[in-house]
Amino acid sequence: MKKRLVVLGAGESGFGTAVLGIKQGYDVFVSDGGKVKDIYKKQLEEWKIEYEEGKHTEEKILNADVVMKSPGIPEKAEMVKKLRKAGIKIVSEIEFGSWYTNAKIIGITGANGKTTTTALTYHILKNGGLHVGLGGNIGQSFAYQVATETFDYYVLEISSFQLDDIEHFRPHIAVLTNITPDHLDRYNYELQNYVQSKFNICKNQLSSDYFIYCADDEITKVNLEKYPTAAIKIPFSYEQKLAEGGYVQDENIIININQNQFTMSIQELGLSGRHNVYNSLAAGIVANVYGLRKEQIRESLSDFKSLEHRMESVAKVRNIEFINDSKATNVNSTWYALESMNKPVIWIAGGIDKGNDYSVMESLVKKKVKGMICLGTDNTKLHSAFGKMVDIMVNVTNMNDAVRMAYQLGNPGDCVLLSPACASFDLFENYEDRGKKFKEAVIQL
Ligand code: ADP
Repeated sequence: MKKRLVVLGAGESGFGTAVLGIKQGYDVFVSDGGKVKDIYKKQLEEWKIEYEEGKHTEEKILNADVVMKSPGIPEKAEMVKKLRKAGIKIVSEIEFGSWYTNAKIIGITGANGKTTTTALTYHILKNGGLHVGLGGNIGQSFAYQVATETFDYYVLEISSFQLDDIEHFRPHIAVLTNITPDHLDRYNYELQNYVQSKFNICKNQLSSDYFIYCADDEITKVNLEKYPTAAIKIPFSYEQKLAEGGYVQDENIIININQNQFTMSIQELGLSGRHNVYNSLAAGIVANVYGLRKEQIRESLSDFKSLEHRMESVAKVRNIEFINDSKATNVNSTWYALESMNKPVIWIAGGIDKGNDYSVMESLVKKKVKGMICLGTDNTKLHSAFGKMVDIMVNVTNMNDAVRMAYQLGNPGDCVLLSPACASFDLFENYEDRGKKFKEAVIQL
């Protein structure tokens, strides 16, 4: 008899898992408690995959041999509780996908820098001639590609939610960019639960695998011993020289692996800012582990362009530069955005605060910010954190006003930085919508 695969959630990873399930001979059923987007409906129908939306029919779910839970579905969802009670195996999409490929996996996780590091690593490996796929938050899901492609390598962006439900998933190279508190609502407000899920990335690794991490990251450092891995550990750092690993010296990045040294000037990196030095070091280490040609790695690290909504330079108007960093939805990423600024900043911030502690930003704000535009329905926390140190503070409730006000406050040579440190849902659909509206407003100036 066919094994039954039930997929909870019909988004990108749900659809991909369902297709892989069909290809692997499962009896597949997809159930989504909300509405299924038209593009997935169409594709599910094309693949003749049975699905339902707006409900979870228990008789069709509790008879599963295995369930793939989409990353957006929390553990406290009723259906998940019932499945757990019934003892049915629940896995994530990357776990399920990994059962059916022999490709080498480069898995990239962390609180910030995942998408950038993933896209950059993919760019280098692809230019280096490897037959490599890209999955995770960008483009098609990993499971779908396992079902329809024959890549030798996959570079995957992996969220903590995907790592919560793994059993055997084992990347050949795991990258942990950093850990700062995020998404704690999904982890019972316990940082340690979140930390543990991030460290899942290396728990199944073997001694022939690699674990790349940031040696400057306090939370990573204090937890390294708690979550042992058999993999070869390769650290990277901005602050200290490392015998084995990646670091910075005299404005160069240096990567030492297996007595082989790779060097490149920071000036030549395609991505700027200290956070991107970290991301470039991590991606550079992966490329060096695979022994790609140094000249080619250098070229790829230098011609990579920043991604949309991440320190994206939009335009200069009256010699005032406008930068879209809408993806900065927490304090840590905004810290790096401000740190990388070398012009006076008019800072657009605010939105839904996920329990932010703004005190870590005080000295940067004092040094760099000349004016602040608070863009949120409730800006009281921003005012109490920065009101005394910023000369001008203005409240607005839409992006056009934010951009126009910032433009009025700016002088030639200044920079207007949208880096909100908050989620966007009070005034926008998501961070992409917020970033797009910013760019539209800039173009209209
Ligand atoms: P993620 O996919 O983990 O959310 P992104 O690469 O999309 O990360 O970057 C999100 C935001 O975090 C960007 O606004 C960027 O400025 C900032 N950022 C990028 N890399 C890092 C890093 N290594 N450390 C801290 N912040 C970073």
